[in-house]
This record gives sequence, structure tokens and C-alpha cells, in this order.
Amino acid sequence: MHEVAIAQGVLNLAIKTARQSGAARIHRIRMRVGAMSGVVPDSLSFAFEALREGTMAAEAELAIEAIPSVGWCAGCQAEFTAEGFALECPRCHAYSRELRRGRELEMADMEVS
Ligand SMILES: [Zn+2]
Repeated sequence: MHEVAIAQGVLNLAIKTARQSGAARIHRIRMRVGAMSGVVPDSLSFAFEALREGTMAAEAELAIEAIPSVGWCAGCQAEFTAEGFALECPRCHAYSRELRRGRELEMADMEVS
């Protein structure tokens, strides 16, 4: 379950950033998780809730913004939102190799005090 390692990484980064800004507590951490990032949001939340115990983020909420996969169809010269893991254009049904969005796995922002 690599979500544990990812949650730990985000938590460490959030704590480091909060300390640098002189904050005492983290209230909320917002993450962007792409549909093709390979991360299961529920597992990430679960891991985060276990890891935050005893830290300055003990009461922090992890808000996950799910980013859909968006591919580019060269034939139609248009972007499309993909369903599932196949990048198939809904107009011409060609398969695309160009993923424009959906690999995001990053901390967006956070609220501290
Ligand atoms: Zn197309």
C-alpha cells in the first residue's frame, strides 16, 4: 500500500511548511489526486488519519480533489475526459497516448494557525 508512503510525505511536507511559517496547528490539507496517479483516495485518507496522530496535524482534515483523466485526440483536435483507464476518444473512438491531466499527485494548499 504505497498510499502510506505518500500520506507520510504529504504530512512531512505540511508540517515542515507550517513550522517555517510559525504556525502551531494544521487544520486542513488539500491535495490534488489524478485518476491516473495510481493512488486510491480512500486509502490515502485512511493512511493520513493514522499518521496524523500525535503531530501538529492531529486534527487536520485531508481534502482530496479528484482530477479526471483528460486526453488529447489528434484526429479530432480536441481534449476529452476519459472514463476508466483507457484513453479512448468518445467522438472517433481512437486511442490516444497523450494524457493532459490525471497524473497529479500533489499538495495544493493548507490552512494553519
Ligand atoms: Zn477523436
